[in-house]
Amino acid sequence: MAAAKARSPELAGHPLPWASATHMQLPCAWLHQLSVHSITHTASSSSSSGGSTSSATSWLRECPKHGGPAAAGAWGAAAPLLRELWSGSGLADEVPALTREALVAALGPDWIGLPPAQAPCLLSSAPSCAAAELASWAGYYRLRGLPLESPAALLLDAVLTLHAAVVRVQQQLLLAARHGEQATAHADLPAAAAAMAGGRAGQAAAAALPQPLVLHLLGPRRELDAWPLLLELGCLLPPGQRIELHLVGPEVPPWAHGRGLRVGPPAAPPCGRQGCSCGRQAAAPGSEAVEQQAARVGSAGSEHAGGPAGWQTLFFWRGAWHEVAAEVEAKHGAPHAVVAPNAGLAAFMEWIPTGTWLLLQ
Ligand SMILES: [Zn+2]
Ligand SMILES: [Zn+2]
Repeated sequence: MAAAKARSPELAGHPLPWASATHMQLPCAWLHQLSVHSITHTASSSSSSGGSTSSATSWLRECPKHGGPAAAGAWGAAAPLLRELWSGSGLADEVPALTREALVAALGPDWIGLPPAQAPCLLSSAPSCAAAELASWAGYYRLRGLPLESPAALLLDAVLTLHAAVVRVQQQLLLAARHGEQATAHADLPAAAAAMAGGRAGQAAAAALPQPLVLHLLGPRRELDAWPLLLELGCLLPPGQRIELHLVGPEVPPWAHGRGLRVGPPAAPPCGRQGCSCGRQAAAPGSEAVEQQAARVGSAGSEHAGGPAGWQTLFFWRGAWHEVAAEVEAKHGAPHAVVAPNAGLAAFMEWIPTGTWLLLQ
């Protein structure tokens, strides 16, 4: 919280022209203005005083007035495809797999509620050496070919927070490796970050990520209904990186508990869809060419624990983390990072047992 406060001048000066300082005072009007006020189908949405301008599920939870469980149904009730994917299997531990192309086709063109030029392309990997670029929204937008007018950032805070956690994991691994190689040298985090920002050292650091990389996302709510956006992580990490992401929290629907699904890797851009943002992606200065990324995707390894190279697996667990973490770890191994983006750690006593569990690990 103190860190966020210290960054307030930086946050106030962010480059997105649609984010007014007072938008949370009139969220419905503001979201209407952005044409993304989505009041939709799953719930008894008779309270749609403002009407609906979009049926895109990804925006369903963005309005604090109309997006909560009372107005829009339980968290996860509008999650696209999950029940459909799992209904074909009677086995709870069977993990259905689909390619990104199949997923995007099944979601349909309106799911994300933005024109292709304004939405991140879930089919395409970002240019390499993304860590330094992703330190700011301007850098992220440039990297993913998005115009600053796009309100996509509103949907992406969870997945970019996850990415920031992965960068920290990379930094720690790089520091550990350096300390191992040169016990007397005194490496520091900025040096490690700089190494990751480009060049061969950056590639070495990226290659050092565990396979699969296991992440726990605690307390998911709107992320349950907008789960496909979490696949943006696979677009931002190095090609071939396997990701296992566990969504753990009391708001996970009972029908999703213990279930998982696996989605294929993104390809090198462009995806071929007319006007898609991936056609305007810009590599960071000094990073290797996108074509080389494609070669690495093509040469990625074979089947391992966590699925084939580049695949991203999502699992859902209902319950407080300290209640289910032991079961999740027994089945899938310990997490490399634990992220709680909706935590309210300073406000809610319910987090104390989870915090205690984390400290004891
Ligand atoms: Zn509203
Ligand atoms: Zn695309």
